[in-house]
Amino acid sequence: MITIEIIDYHIHSNFSFDGKNEIKDIIEKAVELGLSEICFTEHFCIDPEDVSYNFLNYNEYSNQILKLKESYKGKIKIKKGLEIGEPCVFKEELNNIISNMDLDFMIGSIHNINHKKLRLYIENKQKDEIYHTYFLYIYDMVRNGNIDVIGHLDLMKRYAFLQFGNYSFKDFEDLIYNILKCAIERNIGIEINTSGLRDKVNEIYPSIDIIKLYYNLGGEIITIGSDSHSCDDLAKNYLDIIELLKNIGFKYIFKYEKRKPLGILIK
Ligand SMILES: [Zn+2]
Ligand SMILES: [Zn+2]
Repeated sequence: MITIEIIDYHIHSNFSFDGKNEIKDIIEKAVELGLSEICFTEHFCIDPEDVSYNFLNYNEYSNQILKLKESYKGKIKIKKGLEIGEPCVFKEELNNIISNMDLDFMIGSIHNINHKKLRLYIENKQKDEIYHTYFLYIYDMVRNGNIDVIGHLDLMKRYAFLQFGNYSFKDFEDLIYNILKCAIERNIGIEINTSGLRDKVNEIYPSIDIIKLYYNLGGEIITIGSDSHSCDDLAKNYLDIIELLKNIGFKYIFKYEKRKPLGILIK
């Protein structure tokens, strides 16, 4: 039996362009499900070609979190985060904006290649090229990005799966090794994103091979997120992931406070 508090570190409300529910309704649902902590991670990207560009009303978002944090005190902890798309595009400008935001947590994600959505980027390309380019973007992000964790590290499989199938870990092991080494050096964690279990690929992001390699290299910082865009998906498959992590050998999962990682012991 595993006893551990349930937390969700990847949640989109309707402050994200594609989120369905209001922050208050998500909190209500999280309390109902018995979660002890949730972190909102709204989409944020300063590339004018990205779908989320200029969508987030940050001040309003921040005010709501502050207010609800107070009114739900003792019931559930609420954290304020962002999911930054392409943190290396317009990096200096982004860092200036972020430095005034007082965030708890930042996920770094690659949703676009060459300013194009992954789904569109893969058209008329070869399998090897698309996965390789995607992992190169992740490598650039982990070397240069101001982020706390790498979001859905092998997300490309969501888009490439139907057309090309999944990638073979062996084919990209060297590049993935470099990504994980660099993440560990820079104290950047890995997000386990369970939304892949709801996608056609039916696998978590990243794959178990990547999680095991991260562990074998000495990596410790793991966060777990449902990537829910609706209340219905909150904390989905959380305990399955805890069990998986425990079996691999991980001692902790992590939450964040003002961008500092805090371990929760897996018992
Ligand atoms: Zn989204
Ligand atoms: Zn994402």
